Amino acid sequence: MALRTIRLQGDPVLEKRCREVTEITPKIRELIEDMKDTMYDANGVGLAGPQVGVLKRIVVIDVGEGPIVMVNPKIVETAGEQTGDEGCLSLPGKAGTVTRPNYVKARAYDENMQQYEIEGEELLARAICHELDHLEGHLYTELVEGKLRDVTYDDE
Ligand code: ZN
Repeated sequence: MALRTIRLQGDPVLEKRCREVTEITPKIRELIEDMKDTMYDANGVGLAGPQVGVLKRIVVIDVGEGPIVMVNPKIVETAGEQTGDEGCLSLPGKAGTVTRPNYVKARAYDENMQQYEIEGEELLARAICHELDHLEGHLYTELVEGKLRDVTYDDE
């Protein structure tokens, strides 16, 4: 298990567009494992490459149903709308109201470069949209309705 340092808002790496992954090398495999460890250690539901300083199109998500690895992900369909709280490991202790699609279908590759499709609603749809925005250099703060709020976590 290896934890990586989570980059915080203001770090320029979070504002850059990520490059496609062309091959799963041992180094990429290690990165994916480290990203999962880092996400779980921080009690997050998702983590994107730039958040650990790596400008590659890799995302890990777990909304409580097991880890999802998304390499070179693309959203292919969205439907509906949801408005709710969103947070980000790069802005610890903050939350804001963001409207996202309520349903998302995405195409991605797994850690063995096998392509798959995933459908998600509610939290999973929100997480997919949030993490894929990171790959384009965008943070949820650009979408927050009203102000960012301070939040406290029960488990700290
Ligand atoms: Zn985030």
